[in-house]
Amino acid sequence: MEALSRNFFLYLSKNKSLNKMAKRYGLKFGASKVVGGIDFDCAVPVIKKLNEKGLCTTVDHLGEFVKSMDETRERTLQEIHTIQTIAREKLDSQVSVKLTSLGLDIDYNLVFENMRTILNEAQEHGIFVTIDMEDESRCQATLDIFKGLKAEFSNVGTVIQSYLYRSLDDINDLKELSPNLRLVKGAYKESTEVAYQEKKDVDENLKKMIKNHLLNGNYTAIASHDDQMINFTKQFAKENNISRDLFEFQMLYGMRTQTQLDLVNQGYKMRVYVPYGNDWYGYFMRRLAERPANVAFVLKGIFKS
Ligand SMILES: Cc1cc2nc3c(=O)[nH]c(=O)nc-3n(C[C@H](O)[C@H](O)[C@H](O)COP(=O)(O)OP(=O)(O)OC[C@H]3O[C@@H](n4cnc5c(N)ncnc54)[C@H](O)[C@@H]3O)c2cc1C
Repeated sequence: MEALSRNFFLYLSKNKSLNKMAKRYGLKFGASKVVGGIDFDCAVPVIKKLNEKGLCTTVDHLGEFVKSMDETRERTLQEIHTIQTIAREKLDSQVSVKLTSLGLDIDYNLVFENMRTILNEAQEHGIFVTIDMEDESRCQATLDIFKGLKAEFSNVGTVIQSYLYRSLDDINDLKELSPNLRLVKGAYKESTEVAYQEKKDVDENLKKMIKNHLLNGNYTAIASHDDQMINFTKQFAKENNISRDLFEFQMLYGMRTQTQLDLVNQGYKMRVYVPYGNDWYGYFMRRLAERPANVAFVLKGIFKS
C-alpha cells in the first residue's frame, strides 16, 4: 500500500498540467506548512522566526522543467536577489540550488556560467551554496560541475544519496577536495540497476557514508528526519571524538519541528531547508510520496480552503 502511494505521488509530481494549474492558485492544500512562501520576500519572515529559535536555514527556489536559456538566466538573477536579501536582512541562511533550473539539461557551459555568477555573489556576502542532487541520470554531470566549481570556490557543496550503489565510491572520489557534503537517502524513483530498493539497505549505506565522510575529516550535513540516523550520528561522533563543529543536522521546513528544536537545545547545529516559490507543486508531491502521513496535511488543507 505504501509503495503504491509513493509511486502514485511520484507520478503526480511529474504531471505538467497539474504543475501549471498549481502555479495559478498559490500555496494550497496545506502546502504553506512545508513551503516558506510564493517568493523569497514572503519567505523572509518565516526564516526570521526560525533563526530566532536558533535554527539556521538553507533556502531553495522551487522550480522544475526549466527549458530555455533565458529562463535559466532569469533564475540566476532571482538567486542573486535571494543572496542579496539574505545579506541585507542579516538572515542566518545558506542557499540550495538545482542545476536543472540553471540549465543542466540545456548546455554544460550555460549551467557552469550561471553557477559562477551565483557563487561569486554568494562569496562576496560569505554565503554557502549547496547544489541539490536530482535524479540518477543527472548525478555524474552534477558531480562533474561540482568538481569544476570547487576548484574555484570554497563556498560550494553538494549532496550524495545513499540509495545509489555508486555513492560510497563518490564519497571516496571526492575526498581529496575536502568537500562539505549533505548526505541524504534520496528522493527520486530509481531502478534496481542503479539503486537499493529496500529501506534497510538505503539506511545501512547512509550510515557507512556518514562514517566515511566524518572520518575523512570533512564537514557533513546529515539531512534526515529518521531518529535512527540522528542517534547513530550522535553516538558515532561521541565515540570518535568528532567535534560538533564538523557536522550538522538538516530537516525540511514543517517536518518534525519539535525534534528540530530539541536538537538545538542539545547543542547541535540544526539547519532547516526552506523551499519557496510559486512552482511548489512537484516538491509538495515528493513530500507526500515520502510519507503517507503527510497526506493528512492535504486533507486538512482542502477542508480549510
Ligand atoms: C535538508 C534536506 C535536503 C535534502 N536534499 C535532497 C537532495 O538534494 N536530493 C535528494 O534526492 N533528496 C534530498 N532530500 C530528501 C531525502 O533524500 C529523503 O527523501 C527524505 O529526507 C526522507 O528520508 P528521511 O531520511 O528523512 O527518512 P525516511 O526514510 O523517509 O523515514 C524514516 C523514519 O523517519 C521518521 N520520519 C520521517 N519523516 C518524518 C516526519 N515528517 N515526521 C515524523 N517522523 C518522520 C519515521 O520514523 C520514518 O519511519 C533532502 C532531505 C532533507 C531533510
